[in-house]
Amino acid sequence: MRCLLFFDFDGTLTPIVARPSLAKLGKDKLELLKNLAKIPAVTIAIISGRKLTTLKEKINIPGSYYVGNHGFEISGPKTNFVHPKAKEAKPLFKKILLELKKGLRGIKGIIIEDKGATLSLHYRCVEGPKVAEVKRIFNKLAESWPKSKIKITEGKKVFEIRPKVKWDKGEAVRWLLKHLGFQKGDCPIYIGDDTTDEDAFKVLASKGVTIKVGPLKNSLAQKSLKDIEAVYKFLETLLLEISAKSC
Ligand SMILES: [Mg+2]
Repeated sequence: MRCLLFFDFDGTLTPIVARPSLAKLGKDKLELLKNLAKIPAVTIAIISGRKLTTLKEKINIPGSYYVGNHGFEISGPKTNFVHPKAKEAKPLFKKILLELKKGLRGIKGIIIEDKGATLSLHYRCVEGPKVAEVKRIFNKLAESWPKSKIKITEGKKVFEIRPKVKWDKGEAVRWLLKHLGFQKGDCPIYIGDDTTDEDAFKVLASKGVTIKVGPLKNSLAQKSLKDIEAVYKFLETLLLEISAKSC
């Protein structure tokens, strides 16, 4: 039996911070993940909305897989995948980026994250009264964007814009299970905290264990862990159990 451990990054392995660039994994926590990855029967994949290169800079676990841009980019041992639709949509995303920069110019606290094939507009640093204005401007701009080509989702104080293609964290998980030769009896575990993780919870509903960080309300996950600390407690127990069984 193999254990495939899928983790979201922000809000699951690291606390959500005011500036995404400042998110950092503590040394002990990284060590715990590395120890899990050292077990031959364990494979780790980090699945995030972040740009692949940024994700790899933030968390470096030898032998692991990294899924960036909500699944549009996947990298790992002998693995380099970019979804063709992501390549195709680049010019459109360049245009949207310029419109967002222009439209939201002057609003303090806005962070526009250019991830190549996808874009994120973070407003967690915007002062309360200004948030409604950000949303109004964003929705106004979005009216002119081709609905047939892009998909907009709203997460925790962030708008995410992605190419419109049936491809998400769930599809990336499906791709990885196939790529890694997942077999009946293997145990995939997915831990995530945000709306974009729901696609993965759905894909793994009958195949593995799905865990939401935070309240289970409105989630497709089977179980929940209270917070990030509880995630690491769970991983410590898992490490002990798997090591004992040498699974
Ligand atoms: Mg998250």
